[in-house]
Amino acid sequence: MNSEYIPTIGLEIHAELKTKSKMFCPCKNDPEEKNPNVNVCPICMGHPGTLPVPNKEAVKHTLKVGLAVEGTLADFSEFDRKNYFYPDIPKGYQISQYKYPFVSGGKIKVKIKENGVDITKDILLTRIHLEEDTAKSSHDTGDYSLVDYNRSSLPLMELVTEPVMHSGAEASAFAKEFQLILQYLGASDANMEKGEMRVEANISVSKDTNKLGTKVEVKNLNSFRSVERACVYEIERHIGVLENGETIQQETRGFDESTGKTFSQRKKEDSHDYRYFPEPDIPKLYISEISEFAEKELRKEMNELPRAKRERYEKEYGIKTEDIEFYVDNKNLSEFFEQTIQNFCDDKECVKLASNYIVSDLAGLMKNNNIAEPGQVFPSAFGKMMLMLRDGKLSSRGAKDILAILFKEGGDPEQIADEKGLIQKNDPEALKIIVEKVMNENHAIVAEYRAGKVAVLNSLVGLCMKESKGSGNPQLFKEIMLSILG
Ligand SMILES: [Zn+2]
Repeated sequence: MNSEYIPTIGLEIHAELKTKSKMFCPCKNDPEEKNPNVNVCPICMGHPGTLPVPNKEAVKHTLKVGLAVEGTLADFSEFDRKNYFYPDIPKGYQISQYKYPFVSGGKIKVKIKENGVDITKDILLTRIHLEEDTAKSSHDTGDYSLVDYNRSSLPLMELVTEPVMHSGAEASAFAKEFQLILQYLGASDANMEKGEMRVEANISVSKDTNKLGTKVEVKNLNSFRSVERACVYEIERHIGVLENGETIQQETRGFDESTGKTFSQRKKEDSHDYRYFPEPDIPKLYISEISEFAEKELRKEMNELPRAKRERYEKEYGIKTEDIEFYVDNKNLSEFFEQTIQNFCDDKECVKLASNYIVSDLAGLMKNNNIAEPGQVFPSAFGKMMLMLRDGKLSSRGAKDILAILFKEGGDPEQIADEKGLIQKNDPEALKIIVEKVMNENHAIVAEYRAGKVAVLNSLVGLCMKESKGSGNPQLFKEIMLSILG
């Protein structure tokens, strides 16, 4: 990449909010509904004479997200009409917010790698507002189109960032962090594949640090990988165009996941003038007059946020950063981890062991079996096994075997260890017999060791472990062997 150019990226992210009913009517908010046009009524079908009533739950979600990103909550707010004509918008306008969004400013911290080093950056936000979703049109039916109004008027939150990101990786890290915040707050499931969270990127490049280049908007980014790839592709394309002495067209582009390329959709000339004006059917909102919207009340209902969880895990458990990220991303296993630690692990060593076994072994078993729950293993059995491991009653091999059994069938780790002969033997006399047997049967390896190839010691220990069917203590095997070898 020609490094004279500075790429700049701003994001617009839409998220469908989790509420019982739609944004302005009592219809069910059910994104899973498969039958078309079931959750509809005269209000969300845009019949004349109907009156919209804003959904309190959706406003609360928006305000909570505002608090989570340290934005300024509006005191006065209103809804506006955004006028345009399209079949997916039955009223001929969308109810949105223009001048007075619920949230202004704010920031989200993201961690990115720059030149191989981890750095943390505050990404500044412009605003967060609330609007209604459009209906879903399908055009792949031949010479006619179908419209499903189930999605029409679902509560939709829009976040707009300042143009402050400079790479695809940064944009994708931001989207990921925002998704976590939405999920932690229970505001949205924010599943990108299902379209519950949709990302648009505004991208430009410029040689002048004080002046942004012409921006292009890329739509339909439905995975974090697509966000990153589309930004990288578009930045390269801009630089190529400018280096050829041509100019960038301000336009809207789509992204093709199969080719990794963006393509032109709409030039600026056809962009709309939406003729926004305040929605006359909805009263103005004075937030401070509504007790449920008071900051104190909202904070009471807010769950721990991803950032707070990271800090708590670092402070309380002292585990690896990668493990912390794993737990921040994985609700089920972080609950499992915390229950194990709180009830069954009594020191730092046990905490570390538990974390290692959860992140690698238990998560591995879940992945291989394609399930999101830790099978039949419960924190009580798992914690007991960690203590056996810490106290040298189990080898790591034995622990892995028992975990696989617990995962499938459940049970008591001590009993399983007994039955399978996996209780680790720490009796030096018994272990010495095994060591001597292995050394007698493997003269060649012993000779290699004596000739100076110290590394073969591990394979001898491995053979001892095999001979003891995983029940010997490998550390003791090693010590006994070294004492015999002199
Ligand atoms: Zn309705």
